[in-house]
Amino acid sequence: MTTLYENGIVVTLGKPNRVILNGSVFTNGEKIESVGDAASLKKRNPQADIVDCSGKIILPGFICTHHHFYSTMARGMAIPGEPAANFVEILERLWWKLDKALAAEDVSLSAQIPIIECIRNGTTTVIDHHASPSYRDGSLDIIESAVRLAGIRASLCYEVSDRNMPGGGIAENERFIKKVGRGDGQVAAMMGLHASFTLSDGTLEKCVGIANDAGVGCHIHVAEDAADRDDSIKKYGIPTVKRLDKMGVSGKQAIFVHCVHIDESEMDIIAGTKTAVVHNPESNMNNAVGVSKILEFLKKGILVGLGTDGMSSDMLAQMRTAYLLQRLANHDPRVAFMEAPQLLLKNNAEICERQFGLKLGEIAEGLPADLAIIDYQPPTPLNENNFLGHLIFGLVDATVDTTVCRGKILMKNKQILSLDEERITARSRELAPQVWKRL
Ligand SMILES: [Zn+2]
Repeated sequence: MTTLYENGIVVTLGKPNRVILNGSVFTNGEKIESVGDAASLKKRNPQADIVDCSGKIILPGFICTHHHFYSTMARGMAIPGEPAANFVEILERLWWKLDKALAAEDVSLSAQIPIIECIRNGTTTVIDHHASPSYRDGSLDIIESAVRLAGIRASLCYEVSDRNMPGGGIAENERFIKKVGRGDGQVAAMMGLHASFTLSDGTLEKCVGIANDAGVGCHIHVAEDAADRDDSIKKYGIPTVKRLDKMGVSGKQAIFVHCVHIDESEMDIIAGTKTAVVHNPESNMNNAVGVSKILEFLKKGILVGLGTDGMSSDMLAQMRTAYLLQRLANHDPRVAFMEAPQLLLKNNAEICERQFGLKLGEIAEGLPADLAIIDYQPPTPLNENNFLGHLIFGLVDATVDTTVCRGKILMKNKQILSLDEERITARSRELAPQVWKRL
């Protein structure tokens, strides 16, 4: 199947980033075959299906490197008792109650809804972190089915934690990792770990062994709150990153999420082991845990990506929050203009290349046909030099019209094609109150 996405503003990203004002992208099957001037691509590909992109900008599909699909049914949920006053209470009173209340169909709906939201926001690849202790075995297969049906790409894992039972979740992770292996380009697997403060040395040792044998990385929350750092120092005499590194959790395939409360020597360990860090600014602000020193991380050569931590599936909004937060936290209006977009557009693609073995995040010949086509009529000239200004102050509020992943159109004219949004959300509204009753 060949498709010509024509007459849009094509922003290729990659090196060099090209802005083609009247451009087209020609896809053949799952790949981009050519990109360039609209008139010449039309002449060369007269038989292709046509998608008119006039009045729109064509970008590579966005990537989220840390998500929690399972958090869906927390929306609008009343939490009994006093409001949680700190991070650990937020886990105990909200997330560890919600995840335990999820049954099989809830897991499925909880995945399908954020996937629809990903497609609505042009997010075509997600690295997810799942928990559903009462319906654990087989839960990753349910999410995999939702991912395949919807047509996006996702790396999946189950959150191992000793909080309910020692080593809870190891078997589900191991089973899924063995089944998926290094993945098929659409679905990949990681070893999911909750966080240092809910994992014993014995559990970590088992998980690292399984991950190493399979050649996959560990995906873990690291020093999100000071409580995680304090716990590691108290129990093991060393801060979180040092402990995790000692246990073999770090490495080029690994993802350390958050890293809000780490010191410079821990940053050096992360840089030295080439471990990726994922920044989730909206979540950090929502939980009032602090601000990651991502500008320092970047200066040290750490690969820092951007995730939503389940807050939303809108990566452009997340990018702008990262930009605003760093300016405020550093009291410096000169910073983050380059760095916040870099997290989203370049670094997330590099993290995914490690997980999926695919080069994403660029519109170029031979690369995967993952596209976000967004309504955007630039009010000022747009070119390679000022694209980031349009991204941060314009595109962030624009509406995605069409989303393409693996060469398939998942949303066209703002209509989701691959999933029945009305039926799925109606069923979720039916089931959510039952989940809430089980809290
Ligand atoms: Zn998270």
